[in-house]
Amino acid sequence: MSDLEAFRTQVRAWLEENCPKEMRDGAVGEEFVCWGGRNWKFKSEAQKTWLARMASKGWTVPAWPVEYGGGGLSREEVKVLKEEMRRIKARSPLESFGIWMLGPALLKYGTHEQKAHFLPAIARGEIRWCQGYSEPNAGSDLASLQCKCEDQGDHWLVNGQKIWTSYADEADWIFVLVRTDPKAAKHDGISFILIDMATKGVSTKPIKLISGKSPFCETFFDDVKTPKEHAPGVNTVVGALNRGWDVAKYLLTHEREMIGAGGSGAMGGARGIGEIAVDCLGVDETGRLRDAILRAKVAETEVDGWAFLLTMERLKDEAKAGQGMGAKSSMLKYYGTELNKRRYELFMDAAGSEGLEWDSERSEDGKLVKGWLRTKANSIEGGTSEVQLNIISKRILELPDA
Ligand SMILES: Cc1cc2nc3c(=O)[nH]c(=O)nc-3n(C[C@H](O)[C@H](O)[C@H](O)COP(=O)(O)OP(=O)(O)OC[C@H]3O[C@@H](n4cnc5c(N)ncnc54)[C@H](O)[C@@H]3O)c2cc1C
Repeated sequence: MSDLEAFRTQVRAWLEENCPKEMRDGAVGEEFVCWGGRNWKFKSEAQKTWLARMASKGWTVPAWPVEYGGGGLSREEVKVLKEEMRRIKARSPLESFGIWMLGPALLKYGTHEQKAHFLPAIARGEIRWCQGYSEPNAGSDLASLQCKCEDQGDHWLVNGQKIWTSYADEADWIFVLVRTDPKAAKHDGISFILIDMATKGVSTKPIKLISGKSPFCETFFDDVKTPKEHAPGVNTVVGALNRGWDVAKYLLTHEREMIGAGGSGAMGGARGIGEIAVDCLGVDETGRLRDAILRAKVAETEVDGWAFLLTMERLKDEAKAGQGMGAKSSMLKYYGTELNKRRYELFMDAAGSEGLEWDSERSEDGKLVKGWLRTKANSIEGGTSEVQLNIISKRILELPDA
């Protein structure tokens, strides 16, 4: 038996023993997610147990080093763990901006003290993070940001506003891009700083969406005094002062990879388009989906989904082999989000007028229509599709500027 096969056997046995039955329904979607954090209210005992058990193995962040709360697994072992979890339809034990974004940035740019302090708390789901990048006048042109951070000797003084800060009203800490040198060229005077949301002067105002939810906020910093060291030796600025743009760009590659990965949804635990289309439209005498045009579109989208999944795995292998994901994360972000939008358009085609029902039992409380509306934001968050195409043309295709 190869090492990997032996590992698979161990993983399978461990999951069998430790994954609570209630966590084996493959459920995805906001109502099933465990975000963790100081104020997190577990939806069930099973959710709490599942997180605690996975965190104790380091498997909420299986690829992170063991000393920082991870599982220390190789890329191949992580794949095996994911496959075995998918096999029993295990829910993800924990999702968080700490795992997807801040963690990778700290692993690359953080000091040992910063990693040892912040990463294990992310891995255990104790601290929930949000992202303070966008401002009212700095979205696609992020480097125009103006949130001011002044050196006051023993602390930083922060003043300014962020916008579209997802879950800021529920987060414990925020990673923020601030301007620490207003005289420097716009990319050079930016720093990346970590601020406790409970600090005096930090406030949030939720923004309501068309779907009826308020998943993001305006975030205000009014004379916020934040320490230079959060604990002895643990600086709040990550990376070098005024070099925050490097950290910000690196973090964005992880954010884009994560958002793009949503495009492989056809293979997740959720019901696929084929299944929903058959439920809505029925099958013909040969057992195929009744509507021939929709049938072709469903097949095309499913095949594109598989091709995307394989491309994503290849790019991750290349990244792990040392080449880094870099600008290629923009390919995943662009294609994955456009694919997801295409998939939801098909869901709506299949469901017809019933798909538009907002809160009836038949529409599963408007799951489809709310999901469809949410996908419209996929190609905006983390950088718009147009911006990704600009990056792809410049950095990957090496085309000249327009
Ligand atoms: C669901 C969601 C969650 C988000 N969460 C967060 C968060 O947690 N934290 C955070 O900081 N931000 C967050 N954002 C903000 C997001 O990063 C910005 O919305 C995004 O970067 C676009 O910026 P903008 O909204 O200012 O649009 P603009 O930059 O004003 O863009 C407007 C339009 O102009 C186009 N455009 C702009 N520049 C160019 C160009 N150079 N070439 C071609 N077209 C261009 C854009 O593609 C877009 O269509 C979130 C956004 C969404 C939708």
